[in-house]
Amino acid sequence: MTKSGTKTDTPKPVKIRCDACPVMCYVAEGRTGACDRYANENGRIIRCDPLTILDRQLQKGGEVNPFLKSDWDGKVLEGGEMYISAIGSGTTYPDYKPAPFIVSHNVEGADFVTVVTESIFSYCGVKVKIDTDRHLGHEGAVVRVDGEAIGHVMTSEYGSQMISLGGVTHLTGGSKAEGRVTCESLMDLCNKQAVKLDIDDGSSVIVQAGKAPVVDGIEEVRMRVGCGSAAIGMFASQWRGLVDEVVVIDDHITGVVSEHQAGKVLGWEDTGIKIKGRRSTPGRYFQVAEPGLGWGGTNIEDPLVILGPWNAKKGARPGLRLMMVSTTGEQYAYYVLNDDLVPEPREMPDNLIPSVQLIEENCEPSLCSVLFMCGAGGSLRSGATKNPVKLTRSVRALQTNVTCGGAEVYVWPGGGITFMVDVLKIPDNSFGYVPTPAIVAPLEFTVSLEDYLALGGHENSIRPLSDIIEHGGEYGSNARLVSYLSEDK
Ligand code: SF4
Repeated sequence: MTKSGTKTDTPKPVKIRCDACPVMCYVAEGRTGACDRYANENGRIIRCDPLTILDRQLQKGGEVNPFLKSDWDGKVLEGGEMYISAIGSGTTYPDYKPAPFIVSHNVEGADFVTVVTESIFSYCGVKVKIDTDRHLGHEGAVVRVDGEAIGHVMTSEYGSQMISLGGVTHLTGGSKAEGRVTCESLMDLCNKQAVKLDIDDGSSVIVQAGKAPVVDGIEEVRMRVGCGSAAIGMFASQWRGLVDEVVVIDDHITGVVSEHQAGKVLGWEDTGIKIKGRRSTPGRYFQVAEPGLGWGGTNIEDPLVILGPWNAKKGARPGLRLMMVSTTGEQYAYYVLNDDLVPEPREMPDNLIPSVQLIEENCEPSLCSVLFMCGAGGSLRSGATKNPVKLTRSVRALQTNVTCGGAEVYVWPGGGITFMVDVLKIPDNSFGYVPTPAIVAPLEFTVSLEDYLALGGHENSIRPLSDIIEHGGEYGSNARLVSYLSEDK
């Protein structure tokens, strides 16, 4: 202020508008916008992360950053060794203009076009598969991060618990905090970071793509060999002659070898055993206990609690040998019936130990898998073609291949372009966000040049990769080379 109280003439820093999402930040020179992905550099909005070009010739995990243009030998492009991804490309938003890069390339003599864009998704989420027997929460239970609801428990799969996170309802349909936490959690999971999930009336589990889950503070080691019935089928012949009865305890189906079809075929004798639970078919029992963190994903610590009185008329006798084991082989016990037909614990005979070890050996390591899922059938298609539905039809007809950060995706049947992709096949930190809130994900459409033109593609925006490497695009010219993570490529 001057003495007279009027403002000085010090010029205000010039801010320019970023148009890459609906937030439309005004960004000062040398600063980044709200999402930290775009910056004002010398009066121009640039993308902060380099454009990522995938190179088959690099060793897995290899990276050249920054990309030295002088290092590049144009000949490698001829064999289709380099593939431009959308990571760091910028966006086509709000879809009134062609995608940031529409690249022509030649693969084994055929001309192709790849359209790349970083797409903004409100309709998106992740499906998480957690390899564990342990009960994490009831189907439909709400999953929270920092107290905010971000998803729910889905139906479990064979040996794994399934969780669905995100989606438009949590991103935009709840409170501001719910949307922000959902967006942050999705981005972290897609970028292969660990996120702690709290399940209502259930467990707390730390999930990270490609890593073992940590359930209530304990790292899970292995998933079950199969359900109790499957374990009986697999190992009944190996137990024959070594023990009189085997019970494989499992939250889903508990198996009893003497009654089971496999045991019967092999000639196992009746033992007069009684299982407390709902019998499905001979030797297969549902609901022997409540789900939990104990034996075989049940809540029991003492396996004998699932047994009723032994029946002498049906084969029970003093000296009868019983083994009880969980579906991962982590818990096991050995008993012999006394004169009152009550099981007494005994040390496991040496000759049975290998069969328990075999159960453990057949269990796969417990991992978390994170699949990003979104709908790419909206306006972003305009960045690829002037007639969006033609792109959808072309994807359906398998003329256009969709990839996400270079990784093959699974496109759902039916309308739209709804796809799923394993985040482990995508380079690290490929996902971003905008504060609307929504997730930003790389997306590439690859199609033959002939088909692209027939789709009504933006012909005048097609550029060779060499030109893109040389001159960059609307959002700058930073680039890096990284190796393919996906085996599919
Ligand atoms: S949030 Fe990011 S993408 Fe959106 S306008 Fe701001 S800087 Fe640009």
